[in-house]
Amino acid sequence: MMRALTVVEPGTITLQQRDDVVASDGNLVISPKVVGVCGTDVDILDGTIDPDFVNYPIVIGHEWAGVVSVGSEAFPAGTKVVVEGVIACGDCAECRRGATNRCAIYDEYGFTRDGAAMDAVIAHPDLVHAMNDHVSWESAALTEPSAVVLRALQRIDPQQGEKVLVVGDGTIALLAALLVRQWNPTSVTMLGARDEQRDLAATAGVDLFTTNPDETASGYSLIIDAAGAIVATTVALNSAARGGRIVLLGYPGQGHAAPLPVDDVINGDLLILGSFSYTRSAWADVVALLNSGSFDPGFLVTHRFTLDDYASAIATLRKPVGARGKVLMEVTP
Ligand SMILES: [Zn+2]
Ligand SMILES: [Zn+2]
Repeated sequence: MMRALTVVEPGTITLQQRDDVVASDGNLVISPKVVGVCGTDVDILDGTIDPDFVNYPIVIGHEWAGVVSVGSEAFPAGTKVVVEGVIACGDCAECRRGATNRCAIYDEYGFTRDGAAMDAVIAHPDLVHAMNDHVSWESAALTEPSAVVLRALQRIDPQQGEKVLVVGDGTIALLAALLVRQWNPTSVTMLGARDEQRDLAATAGVDLFTTNPDETASGYSLIIDAAGAIVATTVALNSAARGGRIVLLGYPGQGHAAPLPVDDVINGDLLILGSFSYTRSAWADVVALLNSGSFDPGFLVTHRFTLDDYASAIATLRKPVGARGKVLMEVTP
């Protein structure tokens, strides 16, 4: 038998006992080692996620890394791996143009099919990527949120010397500050919500951290909204220089709208962009960055709990105390 952290229906989460999985059709079996918990998992638990993107009951866990237990020649047992969460068909018009995040058939571990907060996961080898031994479990577990951020940045196409504002101070915001450095910005300012995040922000390469919107001024050429609150999106929309670009990554929850200053958007020649999930190529780029050692976001993991103590992990996410980056659950010690 194995454990599976299941949201049975909105409001009900439980560690179920299930039959062990059996590999078939050339698929691999992966033993998850660490699984991140994120705001989206809480949205799944609370039922506030867009119902088009989740099937209940569901085993959560879409940010994870593990070890191959039933392998293949390419991925022998014992290999440290990460597994792409979005399962794109590869065949539809979107997939053929590389926009696998918009595949006509939405299918994703932890959303439409069971995720990694359990003792064994079946994966098609096409989705599996080997990690070098020097990549820490913490960094490997951050592959998924890093791919979300990298895809958004690649889409907005930063130029050298950007004046960057990151709105938000959670993991996505901190990863955005870290990853945007790849494009040599002039400065990175973070408008956070909690002063306790200041040190994490500094380690992520933020030049100026503030929780006071009056201190961020305006005139940013690139703004990344990763806060997940309408008030933050409103600041983001009002902080751009003429010609500035604003990329929206923070979910405020289903059905919330921010006021759009239409005249400023037009007169400012602004570009507002949403970015959904990640493409297969963004995922591969993150794996390459991690394996090269040039990108090492593991310091963002501030909390670890066992899978059995999932309630503490979720509570830490709901109500942060002190510096809080990524919250991990250890599936196997
Ligand atoms: Zn997530
Ligand atoms: Zn497709």
